[in-house]
Amino acid sequence: MTAGCPPTGGVNFPPADRSNVTEETDVSECERCRGLCASRSRIVNGVGPTDAALCFVGEAPGRQEDETGDPFVGRSGDVLDEGLRDQGLARRDVRITNCVRCRPPENRDPTAEELDNCRPYLDREIDAVDPEVIVTLGKVPSEHLLGRSVSVTAAAGSVHDVRVADTPRRVLVCVHPAATLYDPGQRETFASALGAAVDLVEGGGDQSRLGEF
Ligand code: URA
Repeated sequence: MTAGCPPTGGVNFPPADRSNVTEETDVSECERCRGLCASRSRIVNGVGPTDAALCFVGEAPGRQEDETGDPFVGRSGDVLDEGLRDQGLARRDVRITNCVRCRPPENRDPTAEELDNCRPYLDREIDAVDPEVIVTLGKVPSEHLLGRSVSVTAAAGSVHDVRVADTPRRVLVCVHPAATLYDPGQRETFASALGAAVDLVEGGGDQSRLGEF
């Protein structure tokens, strides 16, 4: 845990270093959110290739992610891994990150302020990885990246052209993997959205960035 959090907004983000992609994608110290930096065990950075064709964006770390420092390693992570396997992919083939890098206590949704505070990190990561398709896992990341309210179950599998940090990006909406645990009816929705994401990348003609099939 870091000592003493300054008032929110008191930290200047370091300028992006184009020569070192790790610095662009990893956050070693951040104290922008007073509450989160006091309660977190660690900052959970994105994982996966820094040139991944597919980038999955979740909401925020949960308890196991906070303990291990890796995104999607709990039960939701198992669902995501299984969904990827069904598509002939492994976790190592894709980028996995979150809108917010510190666990909100009691797994509450991140606040608008926390999302805003963490947004430059997400923007910089997407900029560095330059994925062909961004898959938003659940309501929070879908609304965060599309900039409007989204009914995720209805919109799952839909593709949207949006600007992320001034660059045009393709965002495919997906239900959160945890939704399939609470509601087995969502499994098919989740699986078809993942399939649609893979089809989109393959259709883009750059199969090599997705790894072996
Ligand atoms: N849920 C998320 O949204 N992100 C994680 O890293 C884990 C669970």
